[in-house]
Amino acid sequence: MQKLRESVPKSRAFQGAQASAGRLNVRYADASADEILRVALNALPGQIALVSSFGADSAVLLHLLAQIDRDVPVLMLETQMLFAETLQYQRDLSAHLGLRDVRLLTPDPDLPEDLHQRDSKMCCALRKVAPLERVLDDFAGSISGRKRFQTGQRAQMPIFETDHAGRLRVNPLAAWTPAMLSQYLDAHELPRHPLVARGYPSIGCAPCTQPASAADPRAGRWANEAREECGIHFAPDGRVIRRKAG
Ligand code: SF4
Repeated sequence: MQKLRESVPKSRAFQGAQASAGRLNVRYADASADEILRVALNALPGQIALVSSFGADSAVLLHLLAQIDRDVPVLMLETQMLFAETLQYQRDLSAHLGLRDVRLLTPDPDLPEDLHQRDSKMCCALRKVAPLERVLDDFAGSISGRKRFQTGQRAQMPIFETDHAGRLRVNPLAAWTPAMLSQYLDAHELPRHPLVARGYPSIGCAPCTQPASAADPRAGRWANEAREECGIHFAPDGRVIRRKAG
């Protein structure tokens, strides 16, 4: 690992972030997820956060992180519309892995509860994109658990890229397959999100997530809309009642 550390570009090299991402993709094309994670953390020490949904396979990337540094900030979008099971899983998994800096990002509390029915894109923009943007302003980069197999839009996703604000974004699991994820979860005896066993292979906000087949996991997300993404990765009254999966 020492050799890898010595060859890691330091923070100032990321001023030309896009070019740097390109070079990193070449240099670390065959690196493992663990190596990629270490490259990212060493390149932007104290300036990078991991964004996690604490969803169906989030335990993989969070476990990889916990083996390296449990103090790295982990950002979770608490949209106020999540399944109660997801919030419990976040608490349980964080404790299991010993994560010491998990931050729940919440939206404006006055957003109407039925906004997702009236304008789902606006709902995602206000419950997800805006809270994340506010926090990422304090960081020079982020780490995501996205995989190429998940959607057509992610099929060509590089390992290192830049977001719309010029921050480095790192996708250590880009090339992972469902079988690799499952094997990793089993090998490390990681706790599973309780809704996976109940037919939810991909888990987001409760009103916008339905059970789906394992063969097409994202089919249960925004099932009645021609959408694959919430908007985070591209670039207002009502009491919120937590829904449990039926
Ligand atoms: S996934 Fe649904 S409930 Fe969640 S922020 Fe987007 S539209 Fe709103």
